[in-house]
Amino acid sequence: MISNAVLETLEGYVPRENIRLGEPMSRHTTFRIGGEADCFVEIENMEQLIQVKRYLQMIEMPWLALGNGSNLLVSDRGYEGVVLHVGPRMQQIQVQGNRMVVQAGALMAQVAKTACEQGLTGMEFASGIPGTMGGGVIMNAGAYDGEISQVVTQVKVVDRDGNVLELDNATMEFGYRTSAIKHQPFTVVEVTLQLAPGEREAIQSRMEELAAKRREKQPLEYPSAGSTFKRPEGYYAGELIMKSGLRGFQIGGARVSDKHCGFIINTGKATCEDVRDLIAHVQERVKACFGVELETEVIYIE
Ligand SMILES: Cc1cc2nc3c(=O)[nH]c(=O)nc-3n(C[C@H](O)[C@H](O)[C@H](O)COP(=O)(O)OP(=O)(O)OC[C@H]3O[C@@H](n4cnc5c(N)ncnc54)[C@H](O)[C@@H]3O)c2cc1C
Repeated sequence: MISNAVLETLEGYVPRENIRLGEPMSRHTTFRIGGEADCFVEIENMEQLIQVKRYLQMIEMPWLALGNGSNLLVSDRGYEGVVLHVGPRMQQIQVQGNRMVVQAGALMAQVAKTACEQGLTGMEFASGIPGTMGGGVIMNAGAYDGEISQVVTQVKVVDRDGNVLELDNATMEFGYRTSAIKHQPFTVVEVTLQLAPGEREAIQSRMEELAAKRREKQPLEYPSAGSTFKRPEGYYAGELIMKSGLRGFQIGGARVSDKHCGFIINTGKATCEDVRDLIAHVQERVKACFGVELETEVIYIE
């Protein structure tokens, strides 16, 4: 619960229309799952973020940075704290020669499209990943032999106390679907990318080719959070799940996709509990059949 005093203070930092109480998180996740957040704040710029984070730290109020919600599974009970949405109001993209300076709320697809229009190559791999640059950097998002770590040079973050830090690529310690700041109280506000000059038509056709592969292989017609599990060393999660006899296996409204067993989809009315139960069942079966422990890529928020 957010008290009137907290709400009034937040209104001093962020316009009232950017603050919502009891906001359903199902509206902000690609899974279309999640109960209400006590408070949901649309951040417009770094100054607002600094002030809000300083205040939340002072009153010891939990907060969560949200991008496009495409890798999140939020509890049916919602989120007790303040969701800081770095999204549609922070999407500026500047092109400076072969570099791009991008606000963290910009969608990776928008950045890839702009890069293409400018004849810059390097972001094609990310054109079909439905997340923001902030979420992409945290997760080191990647696909088709590309990943964010290959193009990022600088990441500007606001820490828990409202200090601004500039982190270079080495400091980010990017790994498979992870980075040094994944579990740190940092919020990404800006990302600098180093791209290379390329042939516009070739860039466009590579993006179209990757989009076609996604449409063919992935259940894009259903809400999901993409690949539910990380790729275990030496295997493909989807193949292990299929060979465990779980294609189309369903608990409540959550189902192992028939098209791609690595995706758990929401068939319409799935709850977070349904998805969690299904994840646990899949993990158990795959362990029993192959001795492989599947680790989730999707992040659970409660
Ligand atoms: C259909 C589909 C296909 C997908 N395909 C791929 C794929 O090919 N490759 C891949 O890697 N992923 C894929 N994903 C997963 C997802 O899109 C990526 O993980 C993406 O990087 C998440 O970005 P987001 O903005 O949605 O982050 P969110 O889901 O909002 O958040 C993810 C994590 O990042 C944190 N975060 C978000 N924004 C910020 C910020 N500004 N500052 C600090 N922390 C922040 C959150 O707190 C959370 O911990 C797919 C998802 C779907 C639904």
